[in-house]
Amino acid sequence: MELMIPCGECALAASMKDGGFEPDGVVLRNTAVLVQDKNLYRSTCPEGHQLVAILNNLPFELLFQSGLEALADGYLRESVSSFAAALERLYEFSIRVQLTDANVSADEIESTWKTVVSQSERQLGMYIGMRTLQEGKQPTVLSPTQSKFRNDVIHKGYFPDFQEAFGFGEVVFRLILEEVARLDQCFKGAVGIQANAHLEKAMKSLKKDDPQPSMFAFGLAVTDRTDRPFSVVVMNAQANLRRRRAGEAPPTGSA
Ligand SMILES: [Zn+2]
Repeated sequence: MELMIPCGECALAASMKDGGFEPDGVVLRNTAVLVQDKNLYRSTCPEGHQLVAILNNLPFELLFQSGLEALADGYLRESVSSFAAALERLYEFSIRVQLTDANVSADEIESTWKTVVSQSERQLGMYIGMRTLQEGKQPTVLSPTQSKFRNDVIHKGYFPDFQEAFGFGEVVFRLILEEVARLDQCFKGAVGIQANAHLEKAMKSLKKDDPQPSMFAFGLAVTDRTDRPFSVVVMNAQANLRRRRAGEAPPTGSA
């Protein structure tokens, strides 16, 4: 997946011109980069400015978006794989938030996570256990049929059709929206701490002579918490892809 990073220096130069108002609106110079794991982006804008930017979006938000774009482009196996990964990273985020809320130290959370990090079944078990303890009932997760579908696609090379990939994306979309709403409602403070820890990780990968990084966040499909039909979400993703490929600036904003 490609991201468009806006150049702060170009934006500043544009806003100084004509007292901050350009007749045709401020033209943001963007540069396209591929999603990187550390959430830290280094690039050069078309005017030659050095860009160092930290993306505020969480891994599950980016993975879900990546799944949407793959779906919109007809890469259906890839879309199912990214949707499944988004759900797993959402579970990780949820586990970290709930442990933080229970006053478990950051070091302890890291070492606990190491014991489950390489096996997603362990992570799922941990998530189900923690939610059951919290709520006195088991949470909704993928059904056995949905899990089998995911495994067939990821491990057995099954090519899903559009309806199947769309249906899987829709299930994951609902699970993510419900869980982030619950986390925001029950653990607001811990959600903030975990989101911040994610930024600090990116800050740690800065080099000594890097310029001050700019922070930005994209309004991605699952950063918008409003309940809406998944077909609308997919259509918006298609429209955004088209705009981006036409070289337009992306919709940015804090989520
Ligand atoms: Zn620039």
